[in-house]
Amino acid sequence: MAQIALDHIYKKYENASDYSVTDFNLQIKDREFIVFVGPSGCGKSTTLRMIAGLEDISEGELKIDDKVVNNESPKDRDIAMVFQNYALYPHMTVYDNMAFGLKIRKYDKAEIDKRVKDAAEILGLSDYLKRKPAALSGGQRQRVALGRSIVRDAPIFLMDEPLSNLDAKLRVSMRAEIAKLHQRLNTTTIYVTHDQTEAMTMADRIVIMKDGKIQQVGTPKEVYDNP
Ligand code: ADP
Ligand code: ADP
Repeated sequence: MAQIALDHIYKKYENASDYSVTDFNLQIKDREFIVFVGPSGCGKSTTLRMIAGLEDISEGELKIDDKVVNNESPKDRDIAMVFQNYALYPHMTVYDNMAFGLKIRKYDKAEIDKRVKDAAEILGLSDYLKRKPAALSGGQRQRVALGRSIVRDAPIFLMDEPLSNLDAKLRVSMRAEIAKLHQRLNTTTIYVTHDQTEAMTMADRIVIMKDGKIQQVGTPKEVYDNP
């Protein structure tokens, strides 16, 4: 279960003269797939990073399942996040890359093994667990990055432009994979992109942002019918 409420959230970076996010107000339902879309610099990443706990919130309240989490560290938020620049450890195998986050959290070996193998199966990586990242295709590397996050088994899954380093063809097939992954994992998912087609094809609801503000919220159909 994971509902997220952003209650009049504002963000002003230290040294910045203006707010980067202004009065962001949104209720996200359990298991919803939300896409934040808008041009570069409109505040998508900042908002996502505040939800993850990687940036302080300047004003407003962030609630996860009705609990205010503004002051909880990222580790205590039970959130998994995938970044655009998914730095894999080059010297580690696929298995160890996926296991790493669980190892540092002191999960026992059998549990790590189960989770890594389950994730590898879901992502079609079972035959590649012993390889190093350099011996993988771009799409496979991106799957390893997804795997690193899904082994966490967190109820909230955040993705920041995860496909922007892939070529156009791969991007289209990975969209469908990520949508399926969302269904299968039963997570509440927030996906950030500047690509409108990506938003229209993946989202339950789209949040269109401009200049740090929400411009429109709706299902793809509502947004399409009422641009
Ligand atoms: P988006 O993800 O939509 O591209 P960002 O959230 O990265 O937008 O940025 C929103 C605004 O905040 C931009 O004007 C950007 O320059 C500014 N910003 C982002 N990160 C920082 C930072 N660490 N310090 C100061 N300003 C920042
Ligand atoms: P998690 O799934 O727990 O986020 P990661 O493997 O992504 O685990 O990251 C664990 C820690 O290692 C974090 O502190 C992160 O900043 C750091 N880290 C992630 N990737 C790299 C990298 N390629 N090189 C060095 N440190 C990294």
